[in-house]
Amino acid sequence: MIENFVHIHSLPSYRVKQFNVAYYQELIGSYDDLLTWPKDLRLQLQKALRFTSLREIKRAVSLHHDTEKILFERISDNKRFETVLMRHADGRNTVCVSCMIGCPVGCIFCATGRMGFQGNLTAEEIVDQVLFFSRVLKKEKQTVTNIVFMGMGEPLLNLNNVLDAISIFTDPKKMGMSERRITVSTSGHTDNLKKLLVHGYAGRLALSLHAPNQKLREQLMPIAKKFPLDDLLGVLQSHAEKTNKRVSFEYTLINGVNDTRKNAEELASLLRHRLTHVNLIPFNPILGLSLKRSTVEAIQNFSRVLTNKHVHHTVRVTMGDDIAAACGQLAGKI
Ligand code: SF4
Repeated sequence: MIENFVHIHSLPSYRVKQFNVAYYQELIGSYDDLLTWPKDLRLQLQKALRFTSLREIKRAVSLHHDTEKILFERISDNKRFETVLMRHADGRNTVCVSCMIGCPVGCIFCATGRMGFQGNLTAEEIVDQVLFFSRVLKKEKQTVTNIVFMGMGEPLLNLNNVLDAISIFTDPKKMGMSERRITVSTSGHTDNLKKLLVHGYAGRLALSLHAPNQKLREQLMPIAKKFPLDDLLGVLQSHAEKTNKRVSFEYTLINGVNDTRKNAEELASLLRHRLTHVNLIPFNPILGLSLKRSTVEAIQNFSRVLTNKHVHHTVRVTMGDDIAAACGQLAGKI
């Protein structure tokens, strides 16, 4: 850490400030560009502190040029994972960060879950994903506007590193991003969700719901067996009431699994009178998996039921499925 380096070398504290401005705000490309420091000090820094924890292995860009996926290798052990940048038509640039390599939760519709769990990413490795894309966007005079923890892994099972990364994203002396532009998405680890909220997390929350009842949810997401839906919704509801912030519910529409009219009606009654927004996500195909995306007609019918029951929702526009960068498709390969 830069603070340790400054301390060990008995440097004045303004060196930390200069470093933070250059590294996190001016987004320098190497320590050679840290021009507020004398050259000999920069050389010492180079020997003591690596510039980044990640190595870019491959890059894939979608046909529409709106989605970019990077296969990263972490320098500490050469393990690989992916991160996605989505360039939205409205000007937002969202980085979908990973917080793990693989995932232990094992949702049956998710390529990452099928990889198994290969380790947590550190706060530094999470932050470096965003810095990587910040540097890319800087060359186009753009910035990262949003960060979503929707890449590989369950953020609430790597809570300390995720919280440390968020504190770097939001620290005005570092990246200075508003917490409102950060979304933590969880598969529903109720105990750690409570810890996140007790910690004072003020960003957005998204729950991977994917089923309108406990029984079906258990079939799709093994974590549901341990953390029942009623308890989970109770925690989210009291958070929404306390903060007056809508919670997003992600609902992947899988052909013949959770996309019937009955499912839609059940979902509407489950979420009635709650401060929510439902994201309907057409399932993104995964190699080796027989599950299929719902038909256009089924998606429209599902959406119509929610509209009639006054459930706030949108059908997510799929981005990056041609490069396996869409929801649920990240599998550490390009
Ligand atoms: S959907 Fe999320 S929690 Fe479930 S296996 Fe995939 S990465 Fe893990």
